[in-house]
Amino acid sequence: MSYNKVTLKPKKEESLLRFHPWVFSGAIQSIEGNPEEGDIVEVYGANQRFLATGHYQIGSIAVRILSFKQTVIDKTFWTERIRAAYTMRLSLGLVQDDNNTYRLLHGEGDNLPGLIIDMYAYTAVVQAHSVGMHYARHEIAEALKAVLGDALHNIYYKSETTLPFKANLDSESGYLTGGEVEDIALENGLRFYVDWQKGQKTGFFVDQRDNRSLLERYAKGRSVLNMFCYTGGFSFYAMRGKARLVHSVDSSSKAIHLTKKNVGLNFPDDSRHEAFAEDAFRYLEKMGHHYDLIVLDPPAFAKHKNVLRNALQGYRKLNAIAFEKIQPGGILFTFSCSQVVSKENFRLAVFSAAAQSGRSVRILHQLTQPADHPVNIYHPEGEYLKGLVLYVE
Ligand code: SAH
Repeated sequence: MSYNKVTLKPKKEESLLRFHPWVFSGAIQSIEGNPEEGDIVEVYGANQRFLATGHYQIGSIAVRILSFKQTVIDKTFWTERIRAAYTMRLSLGLVQDDNNTYRLLHGEGDNLPGLIIDMYAYTAVVQAHSVGMHYARHEIAEALKAVLGDALHNIYYKSETTLPFKANLDSESGYLTGGEVEDIALENGLRFYVDWQKGQKTGFFVDQRDNRSLLERYAKGRSVLNMFCYTGGFSFYAMRGKARLVHSVDSSSKAIHLTKKNVGLNFPDDSRHEAFAEDAFRYLEKMGHHYDLIVLDPPAFAKHKNVLRNALQGYRKLNAIAFEKIQPGGILFTFSCSQVVSKENFRLAVFSAAAQSGRSVRILHQLTQPADHPVNIYHPEGEYLKGLVLYVE
């Protein structure tokens, strides 16, 4: 099979030689054969040396690299990549009797830019962030079946919010295999209803697993506020960790409904838990000073670089109220999942908030995303989750 050819300008091959998985449009000298968005292309240096094979895109990222070898992108290719990702998850101990919730494939981190696959028990939720991955979805589904075999009942494709808007595709969210609507997923022995059709992202925030476990260690005897709780993830670890009380808050009433269902699954009739559908700032302003463990896990405040300043102010304001109100000896788990907010900037925003409150604050842990959300060492942009665990005197 021959693919269309993209040739780079002189001296623009450097980043590909260092295995960075993107080609920016400004680096391109010429394109042969008029490829369309989503087509496979081969990238060559100005000296006609082959560099990589990837998905062509219209936009500032012009090619997302699938392979640094001259390869045919077919079912065998997808199967090998997905198998490599699965083998790694198995070796990390993520597929166990008490845990069947994990990210099977994390885009650039698993050498498949633009593709996310999350596993919830017997269901894989596939999300395409590029047109190329959208076109490949049926081959990807076949590859998933080949790798996971009987362990896989459903494949749900969910890309209506992640595909480039301008591509004007019919995103066709829906089942590629199976069709069970709701499933109970297990994370470290806790059970969660996951609604991939109507829920946020792929249905659950798999990336907080390790950080939830850490919170469990500190929960004993504490009064916990889980702000931005979504379906209650942190709350159940706190309850298992013998918290005195746990309050879960989210502005989405759907999320609160699922949180309550999840309480029923894990701790039926446990009066330590209450859930409130309310705006974070309103709740924080009016709440008392009785919490001594607070989780702040807001949605991405900045999706683009040009709103970075506002985002940092948002983090400062949010954290400032928590510092002001948390009990002496309290522990704050605070996060940012905005990829454009650097670790340093986030820390600075939290630092400003701490200074504003005048409290003595120490950093106990610096957190990030778990091992099933690996960062490709050649693509440091893949690091997005940042967290601080702080002891507030
Ligand atoms: N901590 C969660 C994930 C949080 S995602 C977990 O472990 O699963 C961010 C959540 O913030 C979403 O559920 C969203 O509904 C909620 N949210 C967004 N804006 C909000 C606001 N202004 N006040 C309260 N919750 C908000």
